[in-house]
Amino acid sequence: MNSLMVGVSGVRGIVGEALVPEVVAKFSAAFGRFTQKGMIVVGSDTRTSNKMFKYAVFSGLLSTGCEIVDVGVCPTPSLQLMVEKLKANGGIVITGSHNPAEWNALKFIRSDGLFLYPEQGKRFLQIYAKERIPRVKWDGIREIHQNTLAIENHLNKVLKFVNKEKIKNRGFKVVLDACNGAGALISPQLIRQLGCEAIELNCRPDGIFAHPPEPIPSNLKQLSEVVKTEGADIGFAHDADADRVAIVTEKGEILPGEYSLLLAAKFTLSKRKGLVVTNLSTTQALDDVAREFSSSVERTKIGDINVSRQMKEKKAVIGGEGNGGVIIPEIHYARDGIAAIALLLEYLAEAGEPISKLASRLPRYYMVKKKLEFTKGDFSPIETRLRKEFKEEKLDFLDGVKISLKEGWIHIRPSGTEPVIRIITEAKTREKAEELYQLALRQIQ
Ligand code: MG
Repeated sequence: MNSLMVGVSGVRGIVGEALVPEVVAKFSAAFGRFTQKGMIVVGSDTRTSNKMFKYAVFSGLLSTGCEIVDVGVCPTPSLQLMVEKLKANGGIVITGSHNPAEWNALKFIRSDGLFLYPEQGKRFLQIYAKERIPRVKWDGIREIHQNTLAIENHLNKVLKFVNKEKIKNRGFKVVLDACNGAGALISPQLIRQLGCEAIELNCRPDGIFAHPPEPIPSNLKQLSEVVKTEGADIGFAHDADADRVAIVTEKGEILPGEYSLLLAAKFTLSKRKGLVVTNLSTTQALDDVAREFSSSVERTKIGDINVSRQMKEKKAVIGGEGNGGVIIPEIHYARDGIAAIALLLEYLAEAGEPISKLASRLPRYYMVKKKLEFTKGDFSPIETRLRKEFKEEKLDFLDGVKISLKEGWIHIRPSGTEPVIRIITEAKTREKAEELYQLALRQIQ
């Protein structure tokens, strides 16, 4: 895909095609305008294109009178914490996240370290698209400060949150696959400081990805092999900006992304009951886990900012997404793959059982996730048809249509950034999930 993908949470595109420095500078100037000449924290993952885009971000921000704190290469959650710590007016992180190396993106951060809320994102995009952005003159150009403390600050915060002694006593052997992304700069250190042995896999932070950076099972075969050959207790994999984490068991089994959240939720709720927040497309296994501890799950629209916001507003105890994004409120209301590693190691230490055993005890469901081309743009005729067809069932129209059935659920929604419709179904067996998918398909075509 050649075009720029612009959404309320940021902008992404293929480097050298839709995403070029001029575009990045203009978005950054619009953000400077949006934050009213504020102090902005800027950082990036390890992508090779970042050294080009970084200066475009600086130019755009400086041209609108912003002051810049350059935190260099660091994970997205580390940068988010720095925005909070420095009481900055916002942040820009240059990261293609889980996308392959040819992609890059900008994500825009509020003064509280969270991504722009959707209504703010809309206002920001209006500035970008419509306004003539006022620029400062020669005497309005402010400073760029270098700051190298983002990793240390994040590390200290996470180390304070978990029971270090308990983990240290177990001295786990842990393999960490950072996909040569920003997680390489922090997670091996974290694991060692927790008294464990860290075996580094793809921990050269040069942005040359050893495999596609999305931490989904098909990309984690190498990690699985290394966990087995090293006889490690557990393996973790990050995407390129380390806000996500996936798990490989000591047997080399690659756990689906939602297990990170399920295990984190189970451990957290065993300590204190409370609300769990996730999006509409995340496994119902989470509801089963919550029920076990007399707790409940609230669901939001798709998009991690919606989960963060709901967690903050409703004081949830844990939350996140099925893609390996775990949000731990004690650290911040942002997805944080690094904090999740610490929490999961504490769970492993306390449980005294191998990770494969802990995973096998979770409720098991099967999901089918597919997307269909959708160029018409108007979803409402489909919504009307689904509303009629499934009028006997429990329906949710918060984001597309979610149909809860006795044997599982179907979620159908138009994508916010691509001309596609996403269909996700889940059931107790793979066959049933596939059957539900076929049922959904028949309604759409
Ligand atoms: Mg990411």
